[in-house]
Amino acid sequence: MSVLDQLATALATGGVRVVDLTHTLDPDFPVIVLPPEFGQCARFRMEEVSAYDHRGPAWKWHNISMSEHTGTHFDAPVHWVSGRDVPNGHVDEIDPAAFVGPVCVIDCSEGAARDEDFELTPAVIETWEAAHGRIPEGTWVLMRTDWSKRRGADYLNMREDGAHSPGPTPEGIRLLVEGRGIRGFGTETVGTDAGQGAHYTPPYPAHYILHGAGRYGLQCLSNLDQLPPTGAILIAPPLKIRHGTGSPLRVLALVPGEGA
Ligand code: MN
Repeated sequence: MSVLDQLATALATGGVRVVDLTHTLDPDFPVIVLPPEFGQCARFRMEEVSAYDHRGPAWKWHNISMSEHTGTHFDAPVHWVSGRDVPNGHVDEIDPAAFVGPVCVIDCSEGAARDEDFELTPAVIETWEAAHGRIPEGTWVLMRTDWSKRRGADYLNMREDGAHSPGPTPEGIRLLVEGRGIRGFGTETVGTDAGQGAHYTPPYPAHYILHGAGRYGLQCLSNLDQLPPTGAILIAPPLKIRHGTGSPLRVLALVPGEGA
């Protein structure tokens, strides 16, 4: 049997399960809020065009609008100034092979429950590697925090001094990008950077270092508690928007099932 025949059998018999890592696109889902002097990210909007009525007797459909960075979404290298000149850095130019690949999940949920500004540092990464092995080149790395279980204002967690949510330190993301050669980095929070990420050097280090190196970001992920630390495959193709900097998408993971 070919590898794909084996996969088809495993999908049919439960040996491989499909896990949805995506939040539902909904006008109430929070988007990132920048300081007021900057342009802002639009929430998801939907308007009915027809619903089996005089506007279209046999069909129902909607017009939708949103930012490229609304809901569960993908960041392309050109999203950040450090990646503005990366070859094939827009969503429509990225090799589609980049959208399917292995994933490691670093469980930071205990730390994030203790400290809403929890940092993914080299020490956290190396502790994870001591248990699960060295992060292989070309993998996605997802930071599990269980932040996706927060609702309402607790999700952005805004204070007078800005948002408070976990994320990587410059040294942490540099180890993943330059030391391990990861494909991309994903989070459960509204961005790949910590809520207080503006205060690092460089500011917003995940965006700066990932995209400057031509790597990708995923954020607003969900259900990371259903993934194994290693051994899953991530499927994360953004919409093919000409010169797009990112896009909402459905993120799926293939994980070992009962029969595996
Ligand atoms: Mn984004």
